[in-house]
Amino acid sequence: MNLHEYQGKEILNSFGVRIQRGIVASSHKEAVDAAKQLTTETGTSWYVVKAQIHAGGRGKGGGVKLAKNLEEVETISNDIIGMMLKTPQTSVEGKKVNQVLIAEDVYYPGDSEPEEYYMSVLLNRSTGRNMIMYSTEGGMDIEAVAEETPHLIFTEEIDPAMGLLPFQARKIAFNLGLSGGAFKEMVKFVSALYTAYVKSDSSLFEINPVLKTSDDKILAVDAKVTLDDNALYRHKDYAQLRDLREENPIEVEAKAAGLNYVDLDGNVGCMVNGAGLAMGTMDLIKQAGGDPANFLDVGGTADAQRVETAFGIILKDPNVKAILVNIFGGIVRCDRVAQGVVDAYKNMGDKINVPIICRLQGTNAKEAKELIDNSGMEIISATEFQEAADKVQEVLAS
Ligand code: GDP
Ligand code: MN
Repeated sequence: MNLHEYQGKEILNSFGVRIQRGIVASSHKEAVDAAKQLTTETGTSWYVVKAQIHAGGRGKGGGVKLAKNLEEVETISNDIIGMMLKTPQTSVEGKKVNQVLIAEDVYYPGDSEPEEYYMSVLLNRSTGRNMIMYSTEGGMDIEAVAEETPHLIFTEEIDPAMGLLPFQARKIAFNLGLSGGAFKEMVKFVSALYTAYVKSDSSLFEINPVLKTSDDKILAVDAKVTLDDNALYRHKDYAQLRDLREENPIEVEAKAAGLNYVDLDGNVGCMVNGAGLAMGTMDLIKQAGGDPANFLDVGGTADAQRVETAFGIILKDPNVKAILVNIFGGIVRCDRVAQGVVDAYKNMGDKINVPIICRLQGTNAKEAKELIDNSGMEIISATEFQEAADKVQEVLAS
């Protein structure tokens, strides 16, 4: 689950990681109140207005602006809230901004040498260990740094049994070229950051930039935090941080219906029972010259109701030109699923406007095929994997 910058920063702060402080606002009126309160709390007189969307590169897209007084906070917030913000990480239409973070300006006027670093914490899947990735080249495009000057990106792997050791935190501060007070501050920052990552059950922290001010404070100016959904049961208070407005509406609906659905860009919808078979089916569609429009695992109980819900969700995607149903009847009998498909088809009437290819294999597969072939519905049946692929190819070609 992805979080907004302001939510990520709250989590960091709760574990003692120093952050650029701010208050979230949903209107330009709230923004002005937030700025006033921030001045009371921090003494700041300049502010940064930051669009809160689930995408990076906001600065480049005009979603991060400096405001030197309350009037500017009001006009800038008014411009940003409601805009469609386009960044290198959004679609071409951009993402609608519902909220802004009013943050203290931490690049003090006259501070000639603020230093920006890059730091992330994530799982290295090939070694199965968490690692801290960091660079002196923060603030800008880290992808470009990785591409052009990869030697400027360092990594530090952490032994899960030991945790982050003090010498590792010192090594990071050293490699970032720090000394004196800033060195000590960085050691504290890195240690608190790693603790926060582990304790919050996150799968990604990306802090770009980490800032060193001229008075040697180290703080997180930005925060991209991804929480591990599978650990949310341990963090009841985090579950409410989900912002459904940022998520794919079809996926949200599927989730509410208890379906395991991931939206993709292709033209063939698939309905499959079991995640492994779903992946195999997606390969099959590729082989047949199509592209999967989705991943959908309907799970073990494919009755008419469930099949109908699944058809409805697949058909919300306007790119779908055909649907491939691929069910293996192990515990669930194929004829029951076939009956479900036929009933759903009958109920949905002309809402189904694309060809359906249905392949059922396993217990009672023969009865299932007969049931479909004799149903009078326009469902193309198949028994073998390849046969199903060929039929997908045929309907796509026609
Ligand atoms: P991103 O563009 O989505 O990564 O958003 P960031 O939170 O990283 O902000 C983008 C850029 O805005 C940063 O790299 C900074 O250069 C700038 N910025 C952020 N906070 C401040 C601030 O307090 N003062 C000033 N002057 N610039 C800031
Ligand atoms: Mn950033």
